[in-house]
Amino acid sequence: MSGSALLKQTIHDLVIANRILANEGVVDVFGHISVRHPERADRYLLARSRAPLLVEAADIMEYDLDSNPIDPRGRVMYFERFIHGEVFKARPDVMSVCHNHAYPLLPFSVSGNSIRPIAVPSVSLGREIPIWDIRDDFPDDGELMVTNNESGRSLQQALGKGSACLMRGHGTVVATLDLKNTVFTSIALKVNAELLMNAHMLRLSTGRGNIKYLTDKEIDTQVKTLQLSVGLNRSWEYYAMRSGMTTSINDDRPSKASKPAKSAKSAKAASAAKSSKAGKTARPAARKSARPVKAKKKPA
Ligand SMILES: [Zn+2]
Repeated sequence: MSGSALLKQTIHDLVIANRILANEGVVDVFGHISVRHPERADRYLLARSRAPLLVEAADIMEYDLDSNPIDPRGRVMYFERFIHGEVFKARPDVMSVCHNHAYPLLPFSVSGNSIRPIAVPSVSLGREIPIWDIRDDFPDDGELMVTNNESGRSLQQALGKGSACLMRGHGTVVATLDLKNTVFTSIALKVNAELLMNAHMLRLSTGRGNIKYLTDKEIDTQVKTLQLSVGLNRSWEYYAMRSGMTTSINDDRPSKASKPAKSAKSAKAASAAKSSKAGKTARPAARKSARPVKAKKKPA
């Protein structure tokens, strides 16, 4: 890969996105997030086969839209990279794709109970979230994973023009117009599934009430506010710090913490010291270290 400033910035943002998704429990050992190449629309960037919590800049690989690696150098690749290639190929508007196996989503993918937004943070999910069943197009394969362009194309067709699609017994794909949006929508989808499950259980246990989903009008109105750059940047900074990475919403130039942050306070200290640490490779964020921050710090 060439080393333009824009490309380096994009790769660094992609590393932050990996760390955020891992820290928020959207991905674990499995799951991945990609971004379209900032200078070549016919390529995308995705880490080598590695748990997202551990991804560093040197792990980021470049692919064409058939998901062939440009410069593999012997690196092991994700089996399911074809999800990304087929979405980027069919959707010129999409700049970032996430595939994950977040467990709260799985009951909805197999039970016939659809996921619909029920709260403000979930409006970016869109009005309808389809469920793709690989068995419909490939009934005799016994395969659940998307390991080639053919099944990737089938999944893409189920996603359509939407921003999220469940995969029966497997996980989900999220595709939006930029990296930050894909990160936040992926988090929102998981949170909405948890809230919706709680609402179902509450209703069943009490025998009272009906779940009030957001209306189409509410979704369309709120999404315009939530997707303003001021909100996206504020959220990006917050989630990045929780994951041990630092990024400034004022100068928009993220920098890496030289060591895993033990708390938001220490992450800020790392940010203050970034001028003396610039250029060093960030170490993986520790989930354990981020938890105290999560427990005591609530966004205003
Ligand atoms: Zn998968």
